[in-house]
Amino acid sequence: MEKYWLIFNPSNEILLKNGSEIPLSLLPPIAPQEDNHTFELPDIEGIKSFCFGVSGNTQAPEGFEFIGLRESHLKLPLSIHYKAGKASELVNFDFTYRFCPRCGTKSYYSSPISKKCPKCQKEIWPPINPAIIVLIYRGKDEILLSHALNFKGNFYGLTAGFLETGESIEECIVREIKEETNLKVKNIRYFGSQPWPYPSQEMLGFFAEYDSGEIKIQEEELSDCRWFRRGFLPEIPPKISMARMLIDYWCTHREEF
Ligand SMILES: [Zn+2]
Repeated sequence: MEKYWLIFNPSNEILLKNGSEIPLSLLPPIAPQEDNHTFELPDIEGIKSFCFGVSGNTQAPEGFEFIGLRESHLKLPLSIHYKAGKASELVNFDFTYRFCPRCGTKSYYSSPISKKCPKCQKEIWPPINPAIIVLIYRGKDEILLSHALNFKGNFYGLTAGFLETGESIEECIVREIKEETNLKVKNIRYFGSQPWPYPSQEMLGFFAEYDSGEIKIQEEELSDCRWFRRGFLPEIPPKISMARMLIDYWCTHREEF
Protein backbone atom coordinates (compact mmCIF):
# COMPACT_ATOMS: atom_id res chain seq x y z
CA MET A 1 0.00 0.00 0.00
CA GLU A 2 1.28 3.45 -0.83
CA LYS A 3 1.68 5.87 2.04
CA TYR A 4 2.10 9.61 2.44
CA TRP A 5 5.58 10.58 3.60
CA LEU A 6 6.00 13.97 5.27
CA ILE A 7 9.73 14.56 5.49
CA PHE A 8 11.29 17.67 7.06
CA ASN A 9 14.79 19.03 7.46
CA PRO A 10 15.89 21.03 10.52
CA SER A 11 15.04 24.32 8.73
CA ASN A 12 11.34 23.37 8.87
CA GLU A 13 11.27 22.71 5.13
CA ILE A 14 9.05 19.94 3.76
CA LEU A 15 9.96 17.60 0.90
CA LEU A 16 7.48 18.01 -1.97
CA LYS A 17 7.25 16.04 -5.20
CA ASN A 18 7.27 18.27 -8.29
CA GLY A 19 7.31 21.18 -5.86
CA SER A 20 3.63 20.73 -5.06
CA GLU A 21 2.67 17.28 -3.71
CA ILE A 22 3.26 15.27 -0.55
CA PRO A 23 5.23 12.16 -1.66
CA LEU A 24 2.90 9.12 -1.98
CA SER A 25 4.76 5.81 -2.35
CA LEU A 26 5.40 2.38 -0.84
CA LEU A 27 8.75 3.45 0.58
CA PRO A 28 9.82 7.00 1.47
CA PRO A 29 11.75 8.89 -1.24
CA ILE A 30 14.52 9.45 1.33
CA ALA A 31 15.31 6.62 3.73
CA PRO A 32 14.89 7.46 7.44
CA GLN A 33 18.24 8.12 9.03
CA GLU A 34 19.62 6.71 12.22
CA ASP A 35 18.36 8.56 15.30
CA ASN A 36 15.42 10.19 13.49
CA HIS A 37 12.12 8.86 14.76
CA THR A 38 9.28 7.99 12.38
CA PHE A 39 5.82 9.06 13.64
CA GLU A 40 2.54 7.65 12.39
CA LEU A 41 0.07 10.48 11.67
CA PRO A 42 -3.71 10.45 11.39
CA ASP A 43 -4.64 9.21 7.89
CA ILE A 44 -4.72 11.81 5.13
CA GLU A 45 -7.69 11.24 2.81
CA GLY A 46 -7.93 7.65 4.12
CA ILE A 47 -4.26 6.93 3.35
CA LYS A 48 -1.73 5.93 6.00
CA SER A 49 0.68 8.78 6.66
CA PHE A 50 4.05 9.02 8.36
CA CYS A 51 6.55 11.75 9.11
CA PHE A 52 10.21 11.96 10.05
CA GLY A 53 13.13 14.37 9.98
CA VAL A 54 16.35 14.21 7.98
CA SER A 55 19.66 15.92 8.65
CA GLY A 56 20.29 19.43 7.37
CA ASN A 57 22.70 18.43 4.60
CA THR A 58 20.24 15.94 3.03
CA GLN A 59 19.69 16.64 -0.67
CA ALA A 60 16.24 16.26 -2.21
CA PRO A 61 16.14 13.39 -4.78
CA GLU A 62 15.54 14.28 -8.43
CA GLY A 63 11.97 15.49 -8.98
CA PHE A 64 11.62 16.56 -5.36
CA GLU A 65 12.46 19.73 -3.47
CA PHE A 66 12.47 21.05 0.07
CA ILE A 67 10.11 24.03 0.48
CA GLY A 68 9.61 26.16 3.59
CA LEU A 69 6.54 24.87 5.44
CA ARG A 70 5.06 28.36 5.60
CA GLU A 71 5.44 28.89 1.84
CA SER A 72 4.01 25.42 1.18
CA HIS A 73 0.49 26.70 1.92
CA LEU A 74 0.59 28.22 -1.55
CA LYS A 75 1.34 24.78 -3.06
CA LEU A 76 -0.73 22.36 -0.97
CA PRO A 77 -4.49 22.15 -0.33
CA LEU A 78 -5.09 23.96 2.98
CA SER A 79 -6.36 20.83 4.80
CA ILE A 80 -3.14 19.01 3.90
CA HIS A 81 -1.02 22.03 4.82
CA TYR A 82 -2.54 21.93 8.33
CA LYS A 83 -1.67 18.22 8.63
CA ALA A 84 1.87 19.01 7.52
CA GLY A 85 1.94 21.58 10.33
CA LYS A 86 1.19 18.92 12.92
CA ALA A 87 3.82 16.64 11.38
CA SER A 88 6.43 19.39 11.47
CA GLU A 89 5.79 19.97 15.19
CA LEU A 90 6.41 16.29 15.93
CA VAL A 91 9.59 16.27 13.83
CA ASN A 92 10.77 19.46 15.54
CA PHE A 93 10.16 17.72 18.89
CA ASP A 94 12.24 14.78 17.68
CA PHE A 95 15.09 17.09 16.60
CA THR A 96 15.02 19.09 19.85
CA TYR A 97 14.54 16.57 22.66
CA ARG A 98 17.14 13.88 21.96
CA PHE A 99 18.30 14.33 25.53
CA CYS A 100 16.49 14.97 28.79
CA PRO A 101 16.36 18.78 29.35
CA ARG A 102 16.74 18.20 33.12
CA CYS A 103 19.66 15.76 33.42
CA GLY A 104 21.03 15.34 29.88
CA THR A 105 20.46 11.57 29.59
CA LYS A 106 19.40 10.23 26.17
CA SER A 107 15.58 10.11 26.15
CA TYR A 108 13.33 7.43 24.63
CA TYR A 109 9.80 7.35 23.20
CA SER A 110 7.42 6.18 25.92
CA SER A 111 4.27 6.85 23.85
CA PRO A 112 3.60 7.66 20.18
CA ILE A 113 4.04 11.39 20.89
CA SER A 114 6.02 11.70 24.11
CA LYS A 115 9.42 10.80 25.51
CA LYS A 116 10.80 9.89 28.88
CA CYS A 117 14.17 10.09 30.58
CA PRO A 118 15.34 6.63 31.74
CA LYS A 119 17.40 8.18 34.54
CA CYS A 120 15.27 10.87 36.24
CA GLN A 121 11.93 9.70 34.74
CA LYS A 122 11.05 13.17 33.43
CA GLU A 123 8.26 13.04 30.85
CA ILE A 124 8.86 15.18 27.77
CA TRP A 125 6.04 16.38 25.50
CA PRO A 126 6.14 18.43 22.29
CA PRO A 127 6.26 22.11 23.32
CA ILE A 128 3.49 24.49 22.30
CA ASN A 129 4.08 28.21 22.84
CA PRO A 130 0.93 30.33 23.14
CA ALA A 131 1.03 33.69 21.40
CA ILE A 132 -1.66 36.37 21.30
CA ILE A 133 -2.67 38.55 18.38
CA VAL A 134 -5.09 41.44 18.82
CA LEU A 135 -7.14 43.63 16.51
CA ILE A 136 -7.52 47.01 18.25
CA TYR A 137 -10.47 49.10 17.05
CA ARG A 138 -11.48 52.69 17.79
CA GLY A 139 -15.11 53.58 17.20
CA LYS A 140 -16.83 51.66 14.43
CA ASP A 141 -14.55 52.55 11.58
CA GLU A 142 -10.90 52.54 12.62
CA ILE A 143 -8.36 49.85 13.38
CA LEU A 144 -4.74 50.02 14.47
CA LEU A 145 -2.29 48.40 12.05
CA SER A 146 1.46 48.26 12.27
CA HIS A 147 4.44 47.21 10.23
CA ALA A 148 6.95 45.14 12.18
CA LEU A 149 10.63 45.24 11.26
CA ASN A 150 10.65 41.44 10.81
CA PHE A 151 7.73 41.36 8.31
CA LYS A 152 8.76 39.97 4.93
CA GLY A 153 6.89 42.44 2.76
CA ASN A 154 5.22 45.84 2.99
CA PHE A 155 1.98 44.69 4.56
CA TYR A 156 0.57 45.95 7.86
CA GLY A 157 -0.47 43.57 10.62
CA LEU A 158 -1.75 43.42 14.19
CA THR A 159 -0.19 43.59 17.62
CA ALA A 160 1.15 40.19 18.67
CA GLY A 161 3.45 38.61 21.20
CA PHE A 162 4.27 35.60 23.34
CA LEU A 163 2.74 34.70 26.66
CA GLU A 164 5.27 35.09 29.45
CA THR A 165 5.60 32.87 32.51
CA GLY A 166 3.15 33.57 35.30
CA GLU A 167 0.94 35.73 33.11
CA SER A 168 -2.74 35.41 32.20
CA ILE A 169 -3.73 35.77 28.56
CA GLU A 170 -5.51 39.04 29.43
CA GLU A 171 -2.40 40.43 31.14
CA CYS A 172 -0.31 39.41 28.14
CA ILE A 173 -2.63 41.33 25.79
CA VAL A 174 -2.53 44.49 27.90
CA ARG A 175 1.29 44.29 28.30
CA GLU A 176 2.05 43.64 24.63
CA ILE A 177 -0.15 46.50 23.45
CA LYS A 178 1.37 48.88 26.01
CA GLU A 179 4.92 47.82 25.04
CA GLU A 180 4.44 48.01 21.29
CA THR A 181 2.14 51.02 20.98
CA ASN A 182 1.79 52.72 24.39
CA LEU A 183 -2.02 52.40 24.17
CA LYS A 184 -4.51 51.18 26.76
CA VAL A 185 -7.38 48.91 25.68
CA LYS A 186 -10.67 47.65 27.14
CA ASN A 187 -13.41 45.15 26.28
CA ILE A 188 -11.06 42.30 25.30
CA ARG A 189 -13.01 39.66 23.37
CA TYR A 190 -11.86 36.20 22.25
CA PHE A 191 -12.14 35.39 18.55
CA GLY A 192 -10.47 32.00 17.93
CA SER A 193 -7.24 30.04 17.82
CA GLN A 194 -5.00 28.48 15.24
CA PRO A 195 -1.93 26.23 15.33
CA TRP A 196 1.03 28.19 13.97
CA PRO A 197 3.67 25.53 13.47
CA TYR A 198 6.67 27.72 12.59
CA PRO A 199 7.84 25.85 14.59
CA SER A 200 5.51 25.30 17.58
CA GLN A 201 3.14 28.13 18.39
CA GLU A 202 -0.57 28.42 19.00
CA MET A 203 -2.05 31.77 17.99
CA LEU A 204 -4.94 33.07 20.10
CA GLY A 205 -6.88 35.82 18.35
CA PHE A 206 -8.72 38.66 20.15
CA PHE A 207 -10.49 41.95 19.58
CA ALA A 208 -9.87 44.86 21.94
CA GLU A 209 -11.35 48.35 22.03
CA TYR A 210 -9.13 51.42 22.26
CA ASP A 211 -9.39 53.05 25.67
CA SER A 212 -6.77 55.80 25.96
CA GLY A 213 -3.24 56.96 25.15
CA GLU A 214 -1.21 58.33 22.24
CA ILE A 215 0.65 55.99 19.87
CA LYS A 216 4.31 55.68 20.70
CA ILE A 217 5.92 52.80 18.83
CA GLN A 218 8.45 50.32 20.17
CA GLU A 219 11.27 51.09 17.77
CA GLU A 220 13.10 47.78 18.24
CA GLU A 221 10.05 45.94 16.85
CA LEU A 222 7.96 48.28 14.68
CA SER A 223 8.72 50.65 11.83
CA ASP A 224 5.20 52.13 11.71
CA CYS A 225 1.88 51.99 13.54
CA ARG A 226 -1.24 53.98 12.64
CA TRP A 227 -5.04 54.10 12.66
CA PHE A 228 -6.56 53.11 9.34
CA ARG A 229 -10.14 53.80 8.29
CA ARG A 230 -12.60 51.22 7.01
CA GLY A 231 -12.33 51.06 3.22
CA PHE A 232 -8.81 52.54 3.22
CA LEU A 233 -6.71 49.69 4.55
CA PRO A 234 -3.14 49.17 3.34
CA GLU A 235 -1.80 45.80 2.19
CA ILE A 236 -2.72 43.26 4.91
CA PRO A 237 -1.37 39.76 5.79
CA PRO A 238 -2.18 36.68 3.65
CA LYS A 239 -5.42 34.70 3.99
CA ILE A 240 -3.99 31.84 6.03
CA SER A 241 -3.05 34.00 9.01
CA MET A 242 -5.03 34.72 12.17
CA ALA A 243 -4.28 38.44 11.60
CA ARG A 244 -6.11 38.29 8.30
CA MET A 245 -9.05 36.36 9.76
CA LEU A 246 -9.48 39.05 12.44
CA ILE A 247 -9.24 41.89 9.91
CA ASP A 248 -11.64 40.16 7.50
CA TYR A 249 -14.13 39.62 10.35
CA TRP A 250 -13.93 43.29 11.34
CA CYS A 251 -14.44 44.30 7.69
CA THR A 252 -17.59 42.21 7.30
CA HIS A 253 -19.20 42.61 10.77
CA ARG A 254 -19.37 46.38 11.29
CA GLU A 255 -22.48 45.99 13.47
CA GLU A 256 -20.48 44.10 16.14
CA PHE A 257 -17.96 46.88 16.79
ZN1 LIG B 1 16.54 13.14 33.06
